[in-house]
Amino acid sequence: MFWADKVASEIIDSGRYTPYWVDDMKTPSGRVHIGALRGLVVHDLVYKALIDRGKDAKYTYVFDNHDPMDDIPTYLPREKFEKYLGMPLFSIPSPEPGFDNYAEFYAKEFEKVFRAIGCEPEIIWAKDLYTKGLMNGVIKEVLDNSAEVRKIYEEMYDKKLTDNWYPFQLFCPECGKVSTTNVTGWDGKEVTYECLPDKVPFTKGCGAKGKVSPFSTKDKMAGKLPWKVEWACKWKVIGITVEGAGKDHMSKGGSHDLASEICKRVINYPVPYAVSYEWFLIGGRKMSSSKGVGTSAIDMLEILPPELIRFLMVRIKVNTQINFDPTEPATIPNLFDDYQKASEAYFEKSNEDLARVFELSQIGEIKKPPLVRFSILTQWVQMPNVEEEIKKQGLGEWVKYAKVWVERFAPEDQKFEIQKGLPDASKDLTDMQKKVLGKISDELDKKWNGEDFQVRIYDIGKELGLTGKETFQAIYQTLLGKDHGPKAGFLILSLDKEFVKKRFQDASK
Ligand SMILES: [Zn+2]
Repeated sequence: MFWADKVASEIIDSGRYTPYWVDDMKTPSGRVHIGALRGLVVHDLVYKALIDRGKDAKYTYVFDNHDPMDDIPTYLPREKFEKYLGMPLFSIPSPEPGFDNYAEFYAKEFEKVFRAIGCEPEIIWAKDLYTKGLMNGVIKEVLDNSAEVRKIYEEMYDKKLTDNWYPFQLFCPECGKVSTTNVTGWDGKEVTYECLPDKVPFTKGCGAKGKVSPFSTKDKMAGKLPWKVEWACKWKVIGITVEGAGKDHMSKGGSHDLASEICKRVINYPVPYAVSYEWFLIGGRKMSSSKGVGTSAIDMLEILPPELIRFLMVRIKVNTQINFDPTEPATIPNLFDDYQKASEAYFEKSNEDLARVFELSQIGEIKKPPLVRFSILTQWVQMPNVEEEIKKQGLGEWVKYAKVWVERFAPEDQKFEIQKGLPDASKDLTDMQKKVLGKISDELDKKWNGEDFQVRIYDIGKELGLTGKETFQAIYQTLLGKDHGPKAGFLILSLDKEFVKKRFQDASK
């Protein structure tokens, strides 16, 4: 059984996770790395598996737009954003016009990608949970139980906290920063705070001190819970029953363990069903969005069709690393081949699990992919006059990606170009090779298809005592100035007949 179907069965059979509410989240602190898509797809699959079992399930995605900026991505001008370090992302201006703020800009960019690959969660902005007053109840619960929260932190991290440590991060009423404040007291109504000049290395606090309410109103967000405590509180406030995370958060003593303790010992809420998933690496490296290196999610839309991006993640078991390196010459062509195999499994009902992978990789209705292999298509897009064949084979959608692959990732030996004049390489042809070109020319006035013509070329060479290699080399050297190329039968038929005749004649002189 496909893993997400197993998870759905487990969730349903346990009877403990109703109503079915699946959630995932992300801080939009910069261009989102492709790795974050895995979490989205993993949760989407569990959600869809629940729906497929006839269950009424919900899927939400929380953008933590209230987290502070603690680093400036390398692709942004430091001098413009430096003054915002330590402030919540929603109060920082957008790097480009047309968006309300910084968090919205990067969240929308990421949303464009996940909508394109068929994930349709309802978006929740973390700030709204606060300003709508939904968090106020749990904030009071947490602050009232500060001693217990302190104990949980101390047990998990084996480190002593002082009695004036409180689990709340106030937005400084004076300078607006959150990274710089400490809350040192709670009287049941107000917190005592100070904004410290030297609390963090990346920015300075303003030195303000005072007592204010930690509760947000619709006009003003007062502050936030520390992330791990907030994770648990968010489960309770939204009503989430299914939410996992990447394996770093799910490891023993990690964020998920702490959030679970908060659920049990502080806010009395059942811990949601959690799927832990492995890394999504690009070329063997895990990269953070703030560093801006590696492939960002938005870049993926340029190199793969949406259903292939989805397939890339659906087909790998959740506990197995995905290592995707588009610069490896075989990576993308192999992915297309595998996708076609999965399609076969689906339409011929030959392999149940693989068929389910194909089904869950679809965006909207189930579409049969083209039959022509991607590697062939990458040759066709380099030939003239093959538009009609491309159209006939229904390759339209894939053409764009074949062109991108040739341009960005194809090794030199898989790139070719019809030479404008007779290439120097053709001067070394043997007499027999020259002869074979003449004989091929003689066949050009007949009607051929690529496959049959390929066989005919081989036979002509054989009749003259040439090996296949010698025959085809003569063609490639004359047309491409190289020793190798795509299937010669197709290549020749893609060209203007008179052009080929003339070229072969010139080479035979
Ligand atoms: Zn301040």
